[in-house]
Amino acid sequence: MIGGIQPCSFIDFPGHLAAVVFVQGCDLSCKYCHNPELIPRRQGKPLEYLWSFLESRVGLLTGVVVSGGEPTLQPDLLSLVQGIRDRGFAVKIDTHGMHPEVALSLVKYLDYVAVDVKLDSKSTRPLCGSSFQGSLPFETLRGLVLSKTTPCEARTTVVEGYHSESVLTSILESLREVGVTRWFLQLCTGKYQPPTQDLLNRVAERATSLGVLTSCR
Ligand code: SF4
Repeated sequence: MIGGIQPCSFIDFPGHLAAVVFVQGCDLSCKYCHNPELIPRRQGKPLEYLWSFLESRVGLLTGVVVSGGEPTLQPDLLSLVQGIRDRGFAVKIDTHGMHPEVALSLVKYLDYVAVDVKLDSKSTRPLCGSSFQGSLPFETLRGLVLSKTTPCEARTTVVEGYHSESVLTSILESLREVGVTRWFLQLCTGKYQPPTQDLLNRVAERATSLGVLTSCR
């Protein structure tokens, strides 16, 4: 289940010095995936490895990010999250949002959720594999906003040829409709290029003026 641990991050969990736990398995196949080695489930590290790591970090870290791969596919995600909380750490999950029922069933145990909004709700462009359904991340975000208990953010990895101004504007409109107020535009790297900085600046300025605080990273 556990593919690896990044011992310390200043940037992955707002307000926390956090470790990042990478779980294995994902039902999407994004072309720009940075962790393809985590997609197939292999023999991972046992949970005891994580518990022992966290017990050595009590008083040094305040949070743990469960990332992947895809956390909501883990059959024992609840016990993973509870085990982290029981050791005194706040918990964030990074999810692609394709399983709103799982993410929302855990909401009272989570301190922060980041949801990937990979494309707009109607897009059928083949960026993330055949299991991708553009409307589901917005459903996840809507539930999180309605819960009023767990802060959330949307993130879009922007790729030239997929994220035109009209696609990004459509995403922005859906984020406003569900009540999301934080949106990060993440620049793809590797063999894909991001859209131009001018385009991203225009979208970010428009979004921020509409109450969706947006930045590029
Ligand atoms: S959802 Fe994340 S882990 Fe899964 S294929 Fe896409 S980028 Fe990779």
